[in-house]
This record gives sequence, structure tokens and C-alpha cells, in this order.
Amino acid sequence: EPALEVRDLVKHYPVRRGLLRRTAGTVKAVDGVSFGLGRGRTLGLVGESGSGKSTLARVLVGIETPTSGQVLVEGEDMARLSRAGRKQLRREVQMVFQDPYTSLNPRMSVQEIVGEPFAIHGVAPAGGRRAAVGELLELVGLEPAHANRYPHQFSGGQRQRVGIARALALRPRILVCDEPVSALDVSVQGQVINLLEDLQDELGLSYLFVAHDLGVVRHIAHDVAVMYLGRVVERGRETDVYDGA
Ligand code: ADP
Ligand code: ADP
Repeated sequence: EPALEVRDLVKHYPVRRGLLRRTAGTVKAVDGVSFGLGRGRTLGLVGESGSGKSTLARVLVGIETPTSGQVLVEGEDMARLSRAGRKQLRREVQMVFQDPYTSLNPRMSVQEIVGEPFAIHGVAPAGGRRAAVGELLELVGLEPAHANRYPHQFSGGQRQRVGIARALALRPRILVCDEPVSALDVSVQGQVINLLEDLQDELGLSYLFVAHDLGVVRHIAHDVAVMYLGRVVERGRETDVYDGA
């Protein structure tokens, strides 16, 4: 069974009448999307701005509730679980956000940022929170001794490593990476991609890797799905889609 499966997923947003809209209605941000993500695999999800990638990503990690359709994590249907069961399963799917300059709270130390998921989910890591954060920092190539520093004391690439460490705190099996290098200097993008690849090998992670275009995805993805206006319009191995594009 796939690590993550999406069946006929729909997310509509209500829109009110306004300056640019004469009538109220709905935006079909995600309009019937299905795919499976195999264990240890990377599915690249590409599409132009407004095609529904972020909405899909947000539904998958539980920031948004779907209008209809199913999300199965490790074969378990999210909607069929109890609230507690859903919360438990949500740990398995974590998000790496696009912009580490805005996604890390500037008032929190790295210790607090990376350790926050333990607090939110009421998890007490064996050996204590400080040791667990130290291990996570080491895992992403940061100095454990720098846990007391604040985001502004890190470069963009290092900040994204902090974001990745936080995403890994609850030992998820799946990471939804929402354009994780597009806010970074080109010079460090490759390092962060290499880190994600190493972590995948080491931890057996599955990635849904969202990107604006095929550039980065070509290197990291085993499969690619192309979204357009809320739908997957093309699906294939990276080379198929790339050659056809
Ligand atoms: P992408 O990530 O591919 O740029 P999005 O998922 O952000 O696409 O957006 C898909 C569509 O849904 C767009 O038309 C966007 O304007 C709309 N949309 C996204 N979020 C909201 C929201 N919270 N309320 C209303 N419309 C939204
Ligand atoms: P609550 O904690 O109040 O149950 P949730 O956001 O977890 O809030 O869920 C609200 C409702 O949305 C649930 O009753 C469930 O049916 C549905 N739901 C939530 N997440 C998903 C998902 N990933 N896939 C399908 N349905 C979901």
C-alpha cells in the first residue's frame, strides 16, 4: 500500500462578491485529484501559480479540511478516524514550508522552534527535549550547541535546515515539501536538496515535493504530477513529463 493516497480530493473555497467579482461563488482550488505516493519515493507536484498545489499540500497536513474526497495515510482514511486517531496519524505527515524567513517565529530560539512539536503533541522524547533537539540539529547538519540562537543568526539555508529539523521532530514517514528551496539563494538550493535526499535514504521518508516548475523536481522526484486549474493533467516519470513539456 502507498504511504499516502489521495482519492478524488476536492477543496472549494467560497468567494464573496467583491471588486473583481460580480457574483458570489466558489473557487475550485482542488477539483478532483487522485494519486498515490509510494514508500520511500518522491512525487514532484508541479504547476503554475494558482493551480492548487498549496491548497492540496495544506489539506494533506491538516491545515485545511477537504470539501470531499479521501486522504489515506498508511492505508488509513483520515475522515474515518476519531479526532484522537486523526491527531495521531497527522504526526506521520509533516510540512516543510516554502520560506524559512517567514515560517520560523523570530522570537523563538531554535530549541523552542524545533522542540515545539513535542509540546503541541504532548510527546516526551526519551532522554529529554534538549537532547532530542540536539540530535535533530545534528541530523540536518547544524551544531547542537547553536540551539540557543535565534533565526536571524542563521543564513537562509541554515534556517531551512531548522525548518526541516522541526518537521522531523515527531518522526514522520511523509514530508510535504512546499517549494522548500525557492526562497533560498541558488547557491544553497543544491545543499538543501542533497540534505533532503540523504534524509530520505537514511529515514525511509516519502516526499510530496511541490514546485513551480520542473527544474528542481527533475533531480529529486521519481514521479511527477502536473496540476492545472485544480486538476492533475499529466502524470508520469520525470523524463516522460519533461520530454513532453
Ligand atoms: P498554487 O499553490 O498552485 O499557487 P493555490 O492552492 O495557492 O495554488 O491556489 C489555488 C486557487 O485557490 C487559486 O485560485 C487561489 O486564488 C485560490 N485560493 C487559495 N487559497 C484560498 C483561500 N484561502 N480562499 C479563497 N481562495 C483561495
Ligand atoms: P476536528 O479536530 O475538529 O475533528 P479536523 O480538521 O481534524 O477537526 O476534521 C474536521 C472534519 O474534516 C473531520 O470530521 C473529518 O471528517 C474531516 N477531515 C479532516 N481531515 C481530513 C482529511 N485529511 N481527509 C478527509 N477528511 C478529513
